[in-house]
Amino acid sequence: MISLFPCLNDNYGFLLVEPQSGLCATIDTPDGAEIDKQLQARGLKLTHILNTHHHPDHVGGNMFLKEKYGAQIIGPKADANRIPGIDIALADGDIFKFGEYDIHLIHTPGHTLGHCAYYVPDEASLFVGDTIFVMGCGRLFEGTPAQMFTSMAKLAKLPGETKIYCAHEYTLSNAEFAMTIEPNNLDLQTAVKTAKSRRAQNQPTVPTTIAAELNTNPFMRSATAERLGEIRKAKDRF
Ligand code: ZN
Ligand code: FE
Repeated sequence: MISLFPCLNDNYGFLLVEPQSGLCATIDTPDGAEIDKQLQARGLKLTHILNTHHHPDHVGGNMFLKEKYGAQIIGPKADANRIPGIDIALADGDIFKFGEYDIHLIHTPGHTLGHCAYYVPDEASLFVGDTIFVMGCGRLFEGTPAQMFTSMAKLAKLPGETKIYCAHEYTLSNAEFAMTIEPNNLDLQTAVKTAKSRRAQNQPTVPTTIAAELNTNPFMRSATAERLGEIRKAKDRF
């Protein structure tokens, strides 16, 4: 079971519960107090923290939640020295046993060098942090366009129906930019309309799916790393 709730200005918080064991993980810790409140409202006890990367809006609540719940912190090996309180560092392809669920760590450098995604096949779900956004992609703070291109290509191989949980609600701005790249893409036009109406009703546009992004996301649709780099630069200035 997955629940999603807004955190900070435009982040999302996510709770993942494995029902057999009752294990409960938060994916990243944008806001420790808000995550604590959401846990209490659901009567849940936090057992794990899964970090995607080291930025403060993803690890900021690590120590508060670790101290309060005694939760174990899991993160990517490549970023281990930048993730507060990390207990278990996993490398690309490693599988973490979460009760009856397998959680796969997929290294997705680009936004940061250590950045990773967590794939949970039992929930047909993928937590991508700041790698993929709805119709967009994360800024290249540490990695190269080629790294981001490879990271996106890895995720694109997952089943089309896989739900993508992005860490930010950046959709309307991404949609506006995507329309400048592919104004004649009918799937994109439809996705933009749907996103606008969801946001008008204050509904999240997350999760999206691999299939939806392959049809609409100009970054995932880039044929080459050079092209991805070019449009990422254009989006930075947009
Ligand atoms: Zn970030
Ligand atoms: Fe972020």
